[in-house]
Amino acid sequence: MSKAKVVILGAGYAGLRALKSLQNKRLDVEITLVNKNDYHYESTYLHEVASGAHEPERITYKIMDVVDTKQTTFIQDTVVVVNKDEKTVQLEKNGAIPFDYLIFALGFESESFGIKGVDEFGLPMVDIPTSVAVDKHLREQFAKYNETKDESYLSVVVCGAGFTSIEYLGELTLQMPKLVKQYNVPADKIQLICIEAMPTLLPMFDAKLSEYGINKLKERGVKFLIGTPIKELKADSVIYEEAGELKSVKAKTIVWTTGVRGSSIVAASGFEQRRNRVMVENDLTAPGYPDIFIIGDCSAVMDNATNRPYPPTAQIALKQGIAAADNLESKLKGTAIKPFTFSALGTVCSIGNTEAIGEVMGHNLKGYPASVMKKVIGDRSLMQTGGMKIVAKKGRFDFYR
Ligand code: FAD
Ligand code: NAD
Repeated sequence: MSKAKVVILGAGYAGLRALKSLQNKRLDVEITLVNKNDYHYESTYLHEVASGAHEPERITYKIMDVVDTKQTTFIQDTVVVVNKDEKTVQLEKNGAIPFDYLIFALGFESESFGIKGVDEFGLPMVDIPTSVAVDKHLREQFAKYNETKDESYLSVVVCGAGFTSIEYLGELTLQMPKLVKQYNVPADKIQLICIEAMPTLLPMFDAKLSEYGINKLKERGVKFLIGTPIKELKADSVIYEEAGELKSVKAKTIVWTTGVRGSSIVAASGFEQRRNRVMVENDLTAPGYPDIFIIGDCSAVMDNATNRPYPPTAQIALKQGIAAADNLESKLKGTAIKPFTFSALGTVCSIGNTEAIGEVMGHNLKGYPASVMKKVIGDRSLMQTGGMKIVAKKGRFDFYR
């Protein structure tokens, strides 16, 4: 009898962790991993690339470093669609590949909410090319200021004040003195504005903790507009609503970080979804498709405490990777599956390299200790998937990096 074909789509946090767990089990199956790049990137550090704090190499490593070639074939290609009833995956270059079991882990995209001008003028940070583009764009605008003396080239608007925006602003404000020097621009003419629709900033933390983090950013020159939903982006301005009136702010750099949705391949493949996230069964499979696991940012798992799906995070994606591998093994062996349960260990939000705020296992943390905690969490995850060699190679034991 031929071996069961297991195909994993996506080598992000969820997909690579599922691969690692499956390989460790040494099952008698053929594993194929598909990813569009030949490298894995740690999405949780994309803001460091977007702010120019680190080169992409710092947060990427070769997928082949994780692949055990005796068990797994890696195909570098782009997924076009999953034919879920035929049980094939259509790839851009390699055509259709069949599967008996599928682990779908294609991650997240930027959410535009259909707001006018976002696709043309908003700069998202969702992968390495888009994050590099944010840094490059801002540098080009600073360079243009010197040719034109037009101050809108020195104005940066960051849209939304979720964790991605706050972490980006945290790093960017630390990079600013270097940028000012390098491009010889007047520091007092730089504007950093963050526009948030909701009336409160970082409401998930204790009010004092949020205030600590936000004040750090204010001290470094960030101006916050709150309760002011963005309505439209133009080439050089952002239109927002304040007290029922439309207002606008000039900016040549508009960073679009108002949230994420799952991969558009979810909807293209005809799964029942909301914002490209599938409300999965308790074994992490798609409803009606017991051989298709959907994990990471393409999945939604209900948090019974809040009656809302858990937010899409690397933390849950990693847990789902392990659980999908366990349940796949159970299905192969005909043993009982284990319902997936999740309990978040906490959240840490960086405010720039050695500053952070967080709540971990019921304890509030701030300042340098919180930043160390954030790095320890990232290093632990890197070690578990990539191994000690990669942690050391990336210089990740340095807590002042
Ligand atoms: P991804 O990490 O997005 O991986 C998806 C993979 O699929 C990628 O390798 C991609 O190249 C590949 N892919 C996509 N489309 C295709 C295709 N069509 N064909 C082939 N391959 C494809 N979460 C936390 O828990 N803690 C944090 O501190 C944290 N910080 C964050 C900071 C930032 C700046 C951002 C943007 C997010 C952060 N998150 C954090 C959220 C976290 O990064 C995501 O929840 C996590 O990356 C989801 O993992 P995933 O494996 O589902 O998807
Ligand atoms: P988010 O959805 O968490 O935050 C987006 C913010 O943009 C929200 O505050 C929202 O109110 C605001 N917004 C939406 N539309 C707007 C509009 N029209 N005008 C103004 N503001 C608007 O998105 P994110 O920050 O990109 O995070 C995505 C996911 O990744 C989340 O689940 C988050 O928890 C996770 N993440 C975690 C960390 C961490 O743990 N340190 C860091 C980054 C991201």
